Amino acid sequence: MTDTLAPVQPAKLIINGQAVDAASGETFTTYNPATEEPICAVARAGPEDVDRAVKAARAAFESGPWPRMRPAERQRILWKLGDLILEHGDEIARLETLDNGKPIFESRQVDLPMVASCFHYFAGWTTKLTGETVPVNPAFFTYTLREPLGVVGAIIPWNFPMIMVGWKAAPALAAGNCVVLKPAAETPLSAVRIGELALEAGVPPGVLNILPGPGSSAGAALVRHAGVDKITFTGSTEVGRQIMRECADTVKKVTLELGGKSPNIVFADADLEAAVRGAYNGIFYGKGEVCAAGSRLLVEKSIHDELLAKLVERTRKLVPADPLDPKTRLGALVNESQMKKVLGYVEAGAGEGAKVAAGGKRQPVNGKGWFVQATVLSDVDNHMRVAQEEIFGPVLTVIPFEGVDDAVAKANDIFYGLAAGLWTRDVKKAHGVARRLQAGTVWVNLYNFYDPGMPFGGTKGSGFGRDLGADSLREYTQTKSVWMNIE
Ligand code: NDP
Repeated sequence: MTDTLAPVQPAKLIINGQAVDAASGETFTTYNPATEEPICAVARAGPEDVDRAVKAARAAFESGPWPRMRPAERQRILWKLGDLILEHGDEIARLETLDNGKPIFESRQVDLPMVASCFHYFAGWTTKLTGETVPVNPAFFTYTLREPLGVVGAIIPWNFPMIMVGWKAAPALAAGNCVVLKPAAETPLSAVRIGELALEAGVPPGVLNILPGPGSSAGAALVRHAGVDKITFTGSTEVGRQIMRECADTVKKVTLELGGKSPNIVFADADLEAAVRGAYNGIFYGKGEVCAAGSRLLVEKSIHDELLAKLVERTRKLVPADPLDPKTRLGALVNESQMKKVLGYVEAGAGEGAKVAAGGKRQPVNGKGWFVQATVLSDVDNHMRVAQEEIFGPVLTVIPFEGVDDAVAKANDIFYGLAAGLWTRDVKKAHGVARRLQAGTVWVNLYNFYDPGMPFGGTKGSGFGRDLGADSLREYTQTKSVWMNIE
């Protein structure tokens, strides 16, 4: 399907309420992974721009209206931003699909409403961030205040560019912080557009700054800047480790969400049709470029062959197609190197003895694009690289198990601990296994469900801290204790 809509305008930086060029005047090009063609030029933020943005955010926090306004007014503005995102839904979703390669069905029907609902949900929290009175001594009036941290640096990945703006900026802003957000250089467009809409909604200058640019310069400068109080990051383990080390120098608070290799366990007593659908959606939604993807399918031996046959049959019908076609359910991977990485894993898996039961190859659409077939690897051992490392593509590994203890042991035998799924009709087993799984989220008889009200984040190598829900507000607030002598 040809994109007949208007060309995408060059994107600028949003600093102190204005769309500006980079101080260096440099730009970079963002590409459409489905066509390999350029989309538009983007201003390339560097350390000088980071400094400008942090100073603007600092000034907005120290002396601007945002942390001082009535919480109900902050609520009104954030709610308005949620409304504006919905009003511009077609435009933002199109930018996301052009930039990332994900199907427009996902951008428009799933991701876009999620971003808007984040701003709506956290708008409601502005008026509910309460402290406590603490009964210490009748001679004293002792209470706590829940205060914002100051300037939050948010560094986000390319797999859910617009959703991550909602997950990070909405709670930080609701709590009265000011934000400098660096989208991934691969996918900057939706974040810049949401930054523009924030100004239209009435977010004051300097409160939400958006800086597209490379992680190695703009991202690193944000992490090191002494004017930043907290870094919230989602991305790779390697960069997460580096950020954590660097935050130590300026004693910054840090939240890390570092991906996963999540087990999706199917017990023999499960509703098999539902489990097949859940396994399929758990890996192929978002082309498998999803931190919580159910990429390790653990299947009880007695139903293994039957389930695998059904899953393979279904998977073969899922073919890569034009992401702008509303019927498409499998888009292009974000770039060539991600495609090569994914195909490299398929090859490595086959080399280790796994069987390619479906897919496994590149499949261009109209002769172009970084598309990879929906892939199922069977005969996988939990210790193979394809079972232990994050592939971040549409590749499912299927691993047999025998009994509950074996399922739990295999599920937990991994560096990561982000999410897990389990399928059973036995309520007692469901609750028991949910407790034993080392994961920040457990889905029972469903997979890949999210809501602004439900906290999301990792244990073990998947990081720490939480996005979403009331828990996320703790990531962006601190407690002050006030003692008053009243005698
Ligand atoms: P990265 O961790 O490199 O990127 C995430 C963000 O961090 C991007 O905005 C990036 O900037 C930025 N960044 C990179 N280096 C630095 C730095 N030194 N200081 C500060 N910020 C930095 O992920 P990749 O894009 O390289 O993806 C690699 C792998 O990571 C994937 O294959 C996947 O396995 C995993 N991943 C996990 C994600 C998750 O949701 N947990 C999301 C994305 C990837 P920029 O890209 O602009 O250079």
